[in-house]
Amino acid sequence: MSNGTDSRKTFIAGNWKMHYTHTEAAALAARLGERLDTGGVRVMVAPPFTALQAVADALRGSAIVLGAQNVSPEASGAHTGEVSCAMLAALGVRVVIVGHSERRHVYGEDDALVARKLQAVLAAGLEAVLCVGETLAEREAGAAEAVVARQLRAALGTCSAADLRAVTVAYEPVWAIGTGRTASVADADAMHRAVRAVVAGMTGAAAAAGLVVQYGGSVKPDNAAELLASPEVDGLLVGGASLQADSFIRIVASSASSPLVDSCPGN
Ligand code: PEP
Repeated sequence: MSNGTDSRKTFIAGNWKMHYTHTEAAALAARLGERLDTGGVRVMVAPPFTALQAVADALRGSAIVLGAQNVSPEASGAHTGEVSCAMLAALGVRVVIVGHSERRHVYGEDDALVARKLQAVLAAGLEAVLCVGETLAEREAGAAEAVVARQLRAALGTCSAADLRAVTVAYEPVWAIGTGRTASVADADAMHRAVRAVVAGMTGAAAAAGLVVQYGGSVKPDNAAELLASPEVDGLLVGGASLQADSFIRIVASSASSPLVDSCPGN
């Protein structure tokens, strides 16, 4: 849990992926808005594009931050099927996830495209959650840290220390996403240190010390506290377990600074 500097506030984000119609998503958001006491924790949910307006409405008055799962690097024009930063910002989106492993590995986004998306997000005055992480083959080949370092250098290469204040890095080993396998706390801890070392080399020690680094990959209510207990793990990016109010509230409550509002029965 964040304890490196006062500026590293614990940040727990839910990525709803391609789940829920706008009506279903609004119902989940309303439930979270009513029952989740964010306490000292920063909490974000990232619904599908089609649900952003409904979720923004449902979260009005709540401290929960609205996020998006993806964005176009382009500002406007002939880009069929794409959504711009300005369009997201107009709906109240404050944070955009870029470089998620499903975008990289299923939809073929390379480091250069991820970097362009990150720059577009920052140029629009939005914040980014930059996802990095190695595949199982890369880990087994002993290349995990090199892969993550390459992804970080590519995406953050043009960032100043000031830009970095709007960036959260999410370390998400690809082999742990949606698989039920979680990185050990020691592995997460080691990679988070490596992330901070790479960033220190690029933008200086102070910026690296203030960087919020989330862990993501099969986070559940029963492993969140252990992960958050690591001084290197400043937050969590949660997929499957963010799809029910009960489990997401319990994950947020795993951070000692956020009390449970109620016993959260059901969804
Ligand atoms: C994710 O989608 O970023 C993720 C970590 O998914 P899950 O928690 O389901 O592994």
